Amino acid sequence: MVAGDTLGEIATRYGVSVEALVAANGLLDPNQLEVGQVLVIPSAALPDQADDPGLTAADTTVVRARPGDTLAAIAARYGQPLETLTSLNALGDSARLFPGQPLLLPRAAATAGALRFGAVQAVQVPDLLRQGRTGRVVVQTKRPLELRGLWNDLPIHFTPLPDDPLRQWAYLPVPALIAPSSYWFTLSYTAANGLALHQTWPVAVGEGGYLSEILALPPDRGALLDPALIQAELEKVVAAWSPVTPQLLWTHPFSRPVGLEYETTSPFGTRRSYDGGPISDYHAGQDFGAPEGVPIVSPGDGVVVLAEPLTVRGNAVIVDYGLGVYAGFWHLSEIDVTPGQTVKTGDRLGLVGNTGLSTGAHLHWELRIYGVAVDPMQFVEEPLAYVP
Ligand SMILES: [Zn+2]
Repeated sequence: MVAGDTLGEIATRYGVSVEALVAANGLLDPNQLEVGQVLVIPSAALPDQADDPGLTAADTTVVRARPGDTLAAIAARYGQPLETLTSLNALGDSARLFPGQPLLLPRAAATAGALRFGAVQAVQVPDLLRQGRTGRVVVQTKRPLELRGLWNDLPIHFTPLPDDPLRQWAYLPVPALIAPSSYWFTLSYTAANGLALHQTWPVAVGEGGYLSEILALPPDRGALLDPALIQAELEKVVAAWSPVTPQLLWTHPFSRPVGLEYETTSPFGTRRSYDGGPISDYHAGQDFGAPEGVPIVSPGDGVVVLAEPLTVRGNAVIVDYGLGVYAGFWHLSEIDVTPGQTVKTGDRLGLVGNTGLSTGAHLHWELRIYGVAVDPMQFVEEPLAYVP
């Protein structure tokens, strides 16, 4: 499907009925087609199957020509002989293609071809991600490649598996306030001949199921919400969590930064307003209710990059866990680490407090990947440092 396509137009183009298209594709609602959706064209529409009697309509799918595409380029992209494409589409091998032009392709090739190109042999992209959650992409290559990734316009970083340099993976962090829709993941690398190759996949993002709350601030703390102060402090923490350490520094699921007896008082992702103002913000971390003085420990192995008193976040510690993953620990009553210090899982970072913009003693634990705040509890509940 390209923008503006309707089933009626597609049916006309291939000389089949709309009903046949609906039936062949199992469409529940023919009025709800998405751009990029792949449709099966029923057999009546196949231009020429004489050369390949084994191929039925159900084995065929439609792909779209990209700007500048040739049949030869598409054949190469999907690992098909050029004759298969010329025969299936009743086109000469030098036929001019227009961007978006539908072309028939053996379904098996489209499925496999969409997930490999050039020296990239397989790409595992998640079908569906949730707001505020973290997914992963795993890429198998024929030879060591310097892979580049772009997820929703954000550069992401690949790292090879420790025991297999031909398998690389990267995190796909999903912003919590991003609208549920389809977003693009692009994988690229520079081929031996200097050509930049790339392939793009849509990844659906669904609702995270977050609630809303209104926070009332004591008058003296409310005065801290000076935009200039917030901005200056934000720039400082963003600078702290922006560098990407090329490899992961921990291997197990995260442990909790405070004991199990300290319950969640405010989960990640809750939509927020202060003193009844508009909901333009969300809770970027996970709050544990704990009295002042309870020890806070590092959930994994990492390196401390910031440890100092801040106005809004109070006494703050930021730890680098590698591959763009950082955790912040806010509102501490005491800081027990210094920047540059290596910490192991369970090492004490400081004590729970009520410093900064806080309405009572608690630990605010925040996880950032490439600066995107994601649910830290997912890293406790799932082995996100491990790729099977
Ligand atoms: Zn919090």
